[in-house]
Amino acid sequence: MDEQSKQTTRIVGAGKMTTGSWPGAVDGSTTTITTDEIIDRLDDFYVATSFTAATRCIDGRHDPNLDESKLGAQMPGGAPGAALAHRLGVDSEDITRATFINDAETMIDTFMRFDLTPGGHKDDQASDGHVGCGALDSMEAIVTNMTDPRYVEDHKRVVKTLLDTDFQRDDYLRILGAALVLRSRSDEYFKGTGEVLDILEHRAPGSIATLEGTHKEAFVFVNLVEDTTFSSNRFSEAFGVQAFGYDLWRSKQLASQLFGFSPHDARYARFVHARVMLTVATLMTLTNGTQRLFIRLPDDQTIAL
Ligand SMILES: [Zn+2]
Repeated sequence: MDEQSKQTTRIVGAGKMTTGSWPGAVDGSTTTITTDEIIDRLDDFYVATSFTAATRCIDGRHDPNLDESKLGAQMPGGAPGAALAHRLGVDSEDITRATFINDAETMIDTFMRFDLTPGGHKDDQASDGHVGCGALDSMEAIVTNMTDPRYVEDHKRVVKTLLDTDFQRDDYLRILGAALVLRSRSDEYFKGTGEVLDILEHRAPGSIATLEGTHKEAFVFVNLVEDTTFSSNRFSEAFGVQAFGYDLWRSKQLASQLFGFSPHDARYARFVHARVMLTVATLMTLTNGTQRLFIRLPDDQTIAL
């Protein structure tokens, strides 16, 4: 990035995701890369996002077909992942009759209606019944961990850090409650989730990436700078470790673009809260919490840690 764009952003190190221990397997503690090094260099790994490029997952693994001039924004589970946030935060229909696969199908169609390429991914690790996207394969565990009394304080702390002044306790509690209701019938709700990529491939041919290798994410980068996204391939090539990337700005943009919510509409805040809550719960489910968190924000914006 040139000097001018460099001056407009700031990288804030927020320390380790937790001082406790999260239930996931990915360990981020082995890297020797310093916090200062990330703060100095991270901006060089952000590029302009392409509006029409396939939505990407937060997964930091190598994507052999990634085109840096056409990078889509990152969110857990790609476009299908947004369906669960909509279900927990916004949908007023009876949760007891819903299924994830129907919700995801509706979400994929909504993306298509607005000429957004939905996007999702599998991986090259053969395993039966799994699509290879941790955010989709582990959805039941994600909802379980989000509502687990052992993790709830930690979860709230991280969500509050990321949403900062936008954090609303009432929204947080409402979505947590919805997650608990969903958890009570998660067997039925998540039945057939593995078919979601078939639906995606059918509706948006070529929008599914196949990521390579195993998880080695040592960092979590949350990006608040609109219309920019993380070049995950280039970062892992340069640093030898991977990082989860979440474009939080995109969750806000989608609340307006996909559903037409104005920022003053209660549903806008609820969708964004649900998205951030599920992202944090996904990280809790995939990692042991030793990853260091960095927030990339516009220079004129501050954040309380
Ligand atoms: Zn994924």
